[in-house]
Amino acid sequence: MEIRVRFAPSPTGGLHIGGVRTALYNYLFAKKMGGKMLLRIEDTDQKRFVPGAEEYIIESLKWVGIQIDEGQGVGGPHAPYRQSERREIYQQYAQQLLDAGHAYYAFDTEDEIEAMRQRLQAAGAANTSYNALTRTQMRNSLTLGADETKRLMDAGTPYVVRAKIPLKEEIRFKDLIRDWQVVHANTLDDKVLMKSDGLPTYHLANIVDDHLMQITHVIRGEEWLPSAPLHVLLYKFFGWQAPQFAHLPLILKPDLLDEKGNVIEVRHGKLSKRDADEMNFPIFPLTWNGTNDNDEDITSVGYREAGYYTDALINFLALLGWNDGSDKEFFTVDELVQSFSLERVHKAGSKFDIRKAKWFNQHYLRAKSDTELAAGVVEALKRQNIACTTEKAEKIVRLMKERVTFPQEIHEQTMFLFAASETYDATAVQTKWNAEAAGLLSNFKDELTTLTDFNAEAAKHTLHVVLEKAGVKIGKVMPALRLALTGAANGPDLMQIMDILGRDETQNRIALALGKLGR
Ligand code: GLU
Repeated sequence: MEIRVRFAPSPTGGLHIGGVRTALYNYLFAKKMGGKMLLRIEDTDQKRFVPGAEEYIIESLKWVGIQIDEGQGVGGPHAPYRQSERREIYQQYAQQLLDAGHAYYAFDTEDEIEAMRQRLQAAGAANTSYNALTRTQMRNSLTLGADETKRLMDAGTPYVVRAKIPLKEEIRFKDLIRDWQVVHANTLDDKVLMKSDGLPTYHLANIVDDHLMQITHVIRGEEWLPSAPLHVLLYKFFGWQAPQFAHLPLILKPDLLDEKGNVIEVRHGKLSKRDADEMNFPIFPLTWNGTNDNDEDITSVGYREAGYYTDALINFLALLGWNDGSDKEFFTVDELVQSFSLERVHKAGSKFDIRKAKWFNQHYLRAKSDTELAAGVVEALKRQNIACTTEKAEKIVRLMKERVTFPQEIHEQTMFLFAASETYDATAVQTKWNAEAAGLLSNFKDELTTLTDFNAEAAKHTLHVVLEKAGVKIGKVMPALRLALTGAANGPDLMQIMDILGRDETQNRIALALGKLGR
């Protein structure tokens, strides 16, 4: 039998990083099993629909490198793959449940349902849901009878279709990650299957589509585990074989850390966008222009725009809830496909730690060739109208490669190579700039004039000659030299910096600093 899995997001905003992990695990499993990965858009909740979200999901999956074999944006034998276009299908299956006595019409208004809740609460009932017991007190086709039901419907009274959950039944299913789950039907409520707008709820649409699209494995987040018993029951009502279930562990909030990485506050619960905003890391794969709780426009910078490589993000997400049983940390996508198994997905939630994502990014950045990184530098500078030769860019890459986490940091942190800094680090000026250092720099500058072949080695040699003559240690002059050349107190190798600046510019900057900071 062909293995078929699906990623079934709702287009309600940016695709949360947890959703990307769900998509990834589906993809890895499908690839490993030689199966197919489907994309279905679950947009039956019109209130939560956000324009642009579907396109965003498709673009995100493309960027991450998750190829969809069938579904929205690709097509296939079970089209349409957007649930809002499958209305009639769900109506037909809802009718099937109604005819078989597994579902019923309910006419209760929200106020009536609320009144029922309050009545039950006042009577001290623990369970106030619309269920096998309370439905006998409500306005539905079970209590009203066929004639009254027909009369109300003919009169255009709004209604929903509810699942008729049996009073006594043990529901059992095996989760591939969590093993056997046993739930008693009396803990479930009579969930709405069709809403008064004629659209199905998630529950009905989800299982009808998983059945029709011949899904063999439902791999989704743990937050859907409580819905699974209802789904199992619906499969049984229809007389269909249920797919296998695998509920992925939650991604948990990171702890709050101070600048040094010490834990200030241990945090519990599911990772949210709010955590990401507070701790300043991306929650979406691509930049998303959305609105906040107060309906104000906000832009959330994505992993792509923040400079994360897809290899790094995939590697990070793959290990956020799974490992191959060894200590291995670096996996290419092919290796992940080879090693992945649902049995090795963890049951317990995984704590999100952005430092790990950065660490992976650093690793993948260092693994890139200088040529590739240099091309990126030239390109990025060009966008700012700054000319840079490939040769210079490669030198800059060699200077910075081991010092940065994100590719854009290579040029962002070396802008001083393109124009002398207008300011000098004030603390460093105060503590490191003095007459002795200034005098030595002046000598060094003069000495450079005699040099014909200027490069890092020659600059270093010249500096040593000057220092030896004066009988001073190199530490006396290096901070001042750095200030003169870069304006900063810290940074990459100074000899290489001089090499990139060239002799004349090195001399100019020393002269400029002597002029501004004094001798
Ligand atoms: N539409 C649901 C979501 O947004 C899909 C859940 C499932 O995979 O069954 O997460």
